[in-house]
Amino acid sequence: MISLSDYPILSRKHRNLVGISSSVPIEVLYAADKTVIDLNNIFITSPKNQEILKNSSDFAPATVCSWTRGVLASAILLKIPQCVVVTQGDCAHTIPMLDVLSANGVRTVAFEYPIDNDFDKLKNEINSFARIYGVNISEVEYFKEKFDEIRRVLKKIDELSYRDLKVGGFENHLYLISASDLNSDPDTFLNSASAFLKQASSRNAFEISLRIGHVGIPPIFSDYYDFISSLGSEIVFNETQRQFSLIGGIGMSVYEAYHNYTYPYFFEKRLNDIKEAIKERRLDCIIHYVQSFCFHQIEDRMLRSGLGDFPVLTLEGDYPAPLNENDKLKIESFVSYVEKKKHGKNVKHIAGCRLNKALVGIDLGSRSVKIACVENGCRKFQIYETMDFILKYLSGPDKAEAAGRFEKDLREDLGIKSVTIDYFSTGYGRYRAKIFSALPFSEIECHAVEAAEATGLKDFTLLDVGGQDIKTIEVFDGAIKGFSMNDKCAAGSGRYIENMARILKVDMDEISRYYENPEPLSITCATFGETEVIGKLIAGVDIKKIIAGINYTVYARVEPMLERHRSKSNTLVVTSGITNNKAFIKLLEANSGFSRVLVPENAQYSGAFGACLKGVSG
Ligand code: SF4
Repeated sequence: MISLSDYPILSRKHRNLVGISSSVPIEVLYAADKTVIDLNNIFITSPKNQEILKNSSDFAPATVCSWTRGVLASAILLKIPQCVVVTQGDCAHTIPMLDVLSANGVRTVAFEYPIDNDFDKLKNEINSFARIYGVNISEVEYFKEKFDEIRRVLKKIDELSYRDLKVGGFENHLYLISASDLNSDPDTFLNSASAFLKQASSRNAFEISLRIGHVGIPPIFSDYYDFISSLGSEIVFNETQRQFSLIGGIGMSVYEAYHNYTYPYFFEKRLNDIKEAIKERRLDCIIHYVQSFCFHQIEDRMLRSGLGDFPVLTLEGDYPAPLNENDKLKIESFVSYVEKKKHGKNVKHIAGCRLNKALVGIDLGSRSVKIACVENGCRKFQIYETMDFILKYLSGPDKAEAAGRFEKDLREDLGIKSVTIDYFSTGYGRYRAKIFSALPFSEIECHAVEAAEATGLKDFTLLDVGGQDIKTIEVFDGAIKGFSMNDKCAAGSGRYIENMARILKVDMDEISRYYENPEPLSITCATFGETEVIGKLIAGVDIKKIIAGINYTVYARVEPMLERHRSKSNTLVVTSGITNNKAFIKLLEANSGFSRVLVPENAQYSGAFGACLKGVSG
């Protein structure tokens, strides 16, 4: 388990250690000769953060956000003697957090930012905070001036991000977030930030495609910034990290600086700061990071309506871990969509593809692998179960042999005659298809491009219900105008229907028969839905009504997503395996309000054919 010996600087200063739950006027604590440690930074940078979370169940249930559990457990397990907890202006969990810390022997001090941003109330709060620590305000102001020297360096690092493009999004994040406690050692932090500034100033400017803003609390993903950089774009604005660094309050008194700080107050103050950043930093789009189980999620609607048409992607994280495939797909599709708006095309071009070749698209989904081939104007296809495909072609040690075997089988199964085959991939496992030298494309683009090709339409809403996700896409004038994906769980997706069919011991043909008179079901979770369905069976409900209820439940899950992207032409195109479920299509026709509901031919292979089209067109 974690201990202070993992943190040599802290163990030396253990006696004077004060943990903070969020940014507070650290000048007061340093003036009182304390060593400040931001518990969020300790938790997220610990190589044992998974272990910390596992051990947090003694202090908070798993339905509380990971940051709260991580902060609580870090403070208690590290035996931090005292903590300052921000009980107003930070987090809805902090009042019970005070109780839990006290019950575990941690001395606590509450700090409150006045939600209405009233200057006098804040001044009183800072004065009483200083009194608790036995320091006067001129001592506090001395440290404010001293730390402004560090903040001036950080401001220059921030400017190197958005003005000069010499500092990457992660570096910007790291230096600004570290200012919340000055890495527990202000002098050493000043030296390291100054050395970094000198080194970064001498770099050449990066060439980037998009200037992205990160809004919301810092992301919990470990590879978030690297993934965005790998797409050729960069985060040039880290909203809350910049606020935590207090670089906006350089030269101000301690009262003015924390009054100017936006994070603890009404959302409007944050929104104005974000709008200024959009202009000053010439942002192309924003990623709004929200944490699972966090009340800040409510602010997403306010952000979107406050920014009007400005492109915003909402990304939700839960545990400290790398981005999952679903998250990557969302980011990739969003970046690609904004790139098209900005540059008129994607920056990532593909090598030209001669049409005397066969084109093969591989849609590597969570439940099935759909393969489409276009050769001499003919379309052919085949399907595998994902596990069979992985075991047959993707799990052996000799990748070249597996790729050769795959091509041989493909030629035989689909009768491919062309000497050369160009491979393209999409779906959840599109990067695994690299062993066939397949060029990957996002599912959003592949489904949209194929739906437009198959229907000849330029203005429609697209619905794709996959094995474990649901996507709705609005296409306007032939281009993607917006899209939504369900949360990361498989609720309401193909897996839910398959699981329910297994419980009922019926096949998919039977499922696709019933839609009238549905039994009300409340759970779309692919796992917990079982309990509800078994309960209905035990209660003697007619199985046809239960099946209709299952189909209706999926419909009810997609309905608000469709509404969000209703096309001007009021036409809905449905792709993917769900199109085999006639009952579901009937429900869409009867209830969705679309004047036309179209299912293209071979709609299950839309993604795979779309990958071929993307490959040809770039
Ligand atoms: S993510 Fe939200 S709920 Fe969790 S600690 Fe932060 S503010 Fe609180």
